[in-house]
Amino acid sequence: MIRSSFIIVFFSFILSKAIGQEALNDGPYIFIEDQQLVEKSVVEGVAVRKELTDAYDTIFRVQPSIFTGVDKIAALSDIHGQYDLAVEILRNNQIIDAELNWSFGDGHLVIVGDIFDRGDKVTVALWLIYELEQQARAVDGRVHYLLGNHEYMVLHKDLRYLHEKYPLVSELLETEYDELYGSNTVLGRWLRSKHTILKINEHLFVHGGISQDFITSAGVDIEAINETMRKSIDRSKDEMKSTDFYSTYYGSTGPIWYRGYFYDPISEITVDSILTQVKSEHIIVGHCSNDEVVIRYNNKVFGVDSSIKKGEYGEILFLLGEEYYRGTKSGERVELNRE
Ligand code: CA
Repeated sequence: MIRSSFIIVFFSFILSKAIGQEALNDGPYIFIEDQQLVEKSVVEGVAVRKELTDAYDTIFRVQPSIFTGVDKIAALSDIHGQYDLAVEILRNNQIIDAELNWSFGDGHLVIVGDIFDRGDKVTVALWLIYELEQQARAVDGRVHYLLGNHEYMVLHKDLRYLHEKYPLVSELLETEYDELYGSNTVLGRWLRSKHTILKINEHLFVHGGISQDFITSAGVDIEAINETMRKSIDRSKDEMKSTDFYSTYYGSTGPIWYRGYFYDPISEITVDSILTQVKSEHIIVGHCSNDEVVIRYNNKVFGVDSSIKKGEYGEILFLLGEEYYRGTKSGERVELNRE
């Protein structure tokens, strides 16, 4: 045991050098154990466990899926562990201040899925969004973190896209990676309260998109779809695959995987029909990467995956009343070209 810990620390040291860090650091992961909160972290390549006396929420109430009368909305997606770039974009666009505190007032910030996987700063990104959510609520703003396919993949133990750092973290903490987000953890419970689809004013937000196939199978009741998705987090894949449930909700035309607005474009008539059925005027999606925030189908579909995952550049969408802008990495606001 001591020997295997030594080997893990040794390899975490080698990896840290390889990825250009001084040492492996990650966490905290907060576990709810017998009325006691236990914090587990990796500090300089070593697992650290401590019992917490600080108060943390352990029960997360499901928030509404539909909001109206919101004047300021900002949205970005597919952060994929690129915490530093995400912070730069949020800060330069005055969503947060220099101390990383909420500064978007009563505005709503929507994270349209996929904070997890690929990059090496997933945990700190999650805690930032967690903190901002509480700060925003205190001033009548909101942060909405919608679950994307990579959140569901990790929660369903599909760990193919983890940054190479995280299997080491998992070994050091002697906990399977998905169990770091289990239902006995603070972040795990928080994630299990999140939506897949959100409607603000006449805008519908969802990571992949809404296809006609999905509407035909699952309907358009947003609250019901969100509840079904939430309940499926702790269902086994085998059980879900035993009926057409899995292909409906998790297949290529389901809300977290659909790419039909971009890679296999559908007709504008179909988009119009989908919008009518979901009683919305715009759909805002992530999941399909572009170099900037893009607008498609005569101003009806917005794509906010601006390739933050590459760690170089990214943007944020602003919907301010009838005015729509791309917020660039440096904080410039560019009016979106209407087709
Ligand atoms: Ca995705």
